[in-house]
Amino acid sequence: MTTWKRINSSKTTLMNATLYINRDEKGHRTIEVVGENPGLVDIDSNGHYPLSLENAKFLRDSLPFLNPNPLKLHTSAGTGDRLGLATPGHIEAFRGKNIAPVFAQQSVREVIRTKRTHQRIMDDAMWGVMEKGWREPWGADADHLKTPEELDAYADAGFTFYTIDPGAHVRNVKNAEEARAILERSEPDTAVLKTKADASIERFQHIDFPKSFKRPDDSQILTAFVKYGKAIEHVKMMYDYLLKRIGDKPFDFEVSVDETDLPTNPFEHFYIASELKHLGVKFTSLAPRFIGRFEKGVDYIGDLVEFEAQYKSHADVQKYFGDYKMSIHSGSDKFAIYEICSRLSDNAIHLKTAGTSYLEALRVIAMHEPNLIRNIMTMSLDHYETDKQSYHVSANVQKVADPKTVKDIDLPKYLDQFDARQVLHVCFGTILGQYDAQIKECLINNYETYESVLKTHFDRHLKPFAG
Ligand SMILES: [Zn+2]
Repeated sequence: MTTWKRINSSKTTLMNATLYINRDEKGHRTIEVVGENPGLVDIDSNGHYPLSLENAKFLRDSLPFLNPNPLKLHTSAGTGDRLGLATPGHIEAFRGKNIAPVFAQQSVREVIRTKRTHQRIMDDAMWGVMEKGWREPWGADADHLKTPEELDAYADAGFTFYTIDPGAHVRNVKNAEEARAILERSEPDTAVLKTKADASIERFQHIDFPKSFKRPDDSQILTAFVKYGKAIEHVKMMYDYLLKRIGDKPFDFEVSVDETDLPTNPFEHFYIASELKHLGVKFTSLAPRFIGRFEKGVDYIGDLVEFEAQYKSHADVQKYFGDYKMSIHSGSDKFAIYEICSRLSDNAIHLKTAGTSYLEALRVIAMHEPNLIRNIMTMSLDHYETDKQSYHVSANVQKVADPKTVKDIDLPKYLDQFDARQVLHVCFGTILGQYDAQIKECLINNYETYESVLKTHFDRHLKPFAG
């Protein structure tokens, strides 16, 4: 005989029924209907209904709050959830903070590595929303889109926040000499490029700048054009494609150049924002590549005085335009800079985190399943050199304690150690290929622990931005 526990605040009224999400003694969820079944399918032997694709669709079509919304200029934060079980814990952290959450968020790279479908990402977030009785708007972020083909599957699943990453079209030029050298190369499109460069320089002669800005000279404009011109055209193409693809449905639109080699200086930030506006691209947030290192899973690495000085100029540009948020990518665990960003941007911020919820999941594994975390650590160490490609990390595997020799009670300390965190962070695809089911079962069985570690962890991220 299975015993069931109704989750607090999960009461949902629909037609003549009250719906509850229940947990059995192992933590598995089902839906209980009190009253007349409004249309859920696949009743089980306990008289409950599964959290299935069909039932998700039925409920989403009947209950508006189960659908994501654009978050516009509201202070917001993104919570990637690679395992699909984190939303209840995220919700506990967001409660009462006046920060709009993005519960469904996954980059193309993560969709491939986790082998999840776009619909599944959306549904998992939705079940969390229903379970916890969340009634405020929440977002769904199609993160780091590079091509129109990648965008389609997210649009079909109803995502409301589109992050365009034109990084492949950014040219790594450091100064005007390097920029001129590119224009001098005899490539087929050089003539076109030169004409566009002249037009850009001409346009910026007649433009107003933030008061704190020195008027840029031709060399600076030329450098910005060569560095970001092609990327801006790519964003415009993606924007037009999205408009055609989803029609007049409102959406959030983010432009991110964070995953590029060279930092975006404040004038270049101005240049990108100004050119995008000139082209009619309405964006909600912009993620420059800031100075210093934004490595995965660890705090900001760099000079904080320098960071603050440069962030101030970025914030001046942002305030000059006044109609978009500053987006901070790889934003998890950057505790050293949150106060600076919050204060200088007046909380016009989108804080994007992705893998940190996965690390908190592993903390639960380390607390409850010593052998499993040892296997995960061993496998991650073996795959780190390969899996770290395309990520900004600097862990030294030699500094990670040998899983065979760590005492059970000390295993959770892996999640507090710089090198171990990064090793675990980037190897999630490999690990899920092998241990997906075991990890999820452990998290479901210990769902209260998972919620509580997520709440603690995200409280630290969100409090500096709470209004
Ligand atoms: Zn990013």
